Amino acid sequence: MEDGFEPLIDDGFAGDAAKRCLSYIQSQREKGKHIVGIYCGYAPMEVIRAAGLVPAVLCAFADKTIAAGETTLPANLCPLIKSSYGFIKTDTCPFYAISEAVIAETTCDGKKKMFEFIADIKPTHVMDLPQLPDQKEALDNWTKMIKKLGGFLENTFDCKITNAGVAQEIKNTNLKNKLLNVIFDFAALPSVPLTWQEIYDLTYFGQVATTEDMLPILETALATLRKRVADGVSHGKKDSPRVLVTGCPIGGDATKVLKVIEEAGGVIVCLDSCSGMKAYAGHFEENASDPYQSVSRRYLDVPCSCMTPNAKRLTELDRMMNKFRPDVVIDVVLHACHSYNIESSKVKTHVETKHKKPFLKIETDYSQGDVEQIRTRVEAVLETVSKK
Ligand code: SF4
Ligand code: SF4
Repeated sequence: MEDGFEPLIDDGFAGDAAKRCLSYIQSQREKGKHIVGIYCGYAPMEVIRAAGLVPAVLCAFADKTIAAGETTLPANLCPLIKSSYGFIKTDTCPFYAISEAVIAETTCDGKKKMFEFIADIKPTHVMDLPQLPDQKEALDNWTKMIKKLGGFLENTFDCKITNAGVAQEIKNTNLKNKLLNVIFDFAALPSVPLTWQEIYDLTYFGQVATTEDMLPILETALATLRKRVADGVSHGKKDSPRVLVTGCPIGGDATKVLKVIEEAGGVIVCLDSCSGMKAYAGHFEENASDPYQSVSRRYLDVPCSCMTPNAKRLTELDRMMNKFRPDVVIDVVLHACHSYNIESSKVKTHVETKHKKPFLKIETDYSQGDVEQIRTRVEAVLETVSKK
């Protein structure tokens, strides 16, 4: 914990987002709730929650299970997929173990084909995600897929999902997102009163916890942040280069990049990925005549590189850059993630020409072997914007 920092979430799990989530999920299971595993930012949480279910995030970020994953999957596959599958193969993933069914979306090829293996182990419902989000058929097709998911959940868990229930969950999500964005706003201040780890702890937990359970945590975090500002407590130095990190979802062993950025003197002010703030952008239409369509519309707005064209990624990047005012943008691309890798070139051009800011792409995996190489490159780019 940073000097002078009271914990933002004072529950004994500071800095260990996965353990916090697991503890929460286990407590919900003990209360009799059913758990459903999810793999993606497109999982329609409002329908999952309207079914009374608790989501468990199954994406893994640990190098230790990659070798096991590679006994079935090719080595030249994204580490997120290999790590996630390696946990399942070695039967060591507590999140997968506690999940009674899995919801999967056809995003990238690697995930899609991995789902075929896990479907042999647990009931797995694959949703056909439209990948041309701007075509008029996309909204209808994705709405149908979300309704079909509702049917799968009702049959599997013997529950009933009502339109009113989905509409209520839409309101709950909007409230949670609103409060989280008020917290993110603190990272836009000239002196940043919170760390990337604290942002990450909140964004990770926000995916599994209900709004009701998050509210007291968010209110306490807000009070703590206001006190830090009043006391003049901040993270990093006033002249530290501000860094926006975009790209693939990262966590666990991949947070080596975030640690290196801060060790090199940068302050991370924005995490623009599905493991960061991306999941909490946007707004669900409330009181829509068809709440499923409202859910569908919002998720189709998620700017993942599996979409084509993915113009919303640049629009969202503009919004984030205008708000958090980074000095540098660092794009983290996991090895063999072709869609984010290809898209990186567009992001670079956009950042350098429209925003006139330096851009650095880091391709990496979950091993620690490239940390010093990453450090050299990060130090070099931060040097170009050094305010000293
Ligand atoms: S980056 Fe794309 S595929 Fe990965 S979790 Fe986010 S939306 Fe899903
Ligand atoms: S990081 Fe890329 S390749 Fe890996 S699961 Fe996500 S979209 Fe697929």
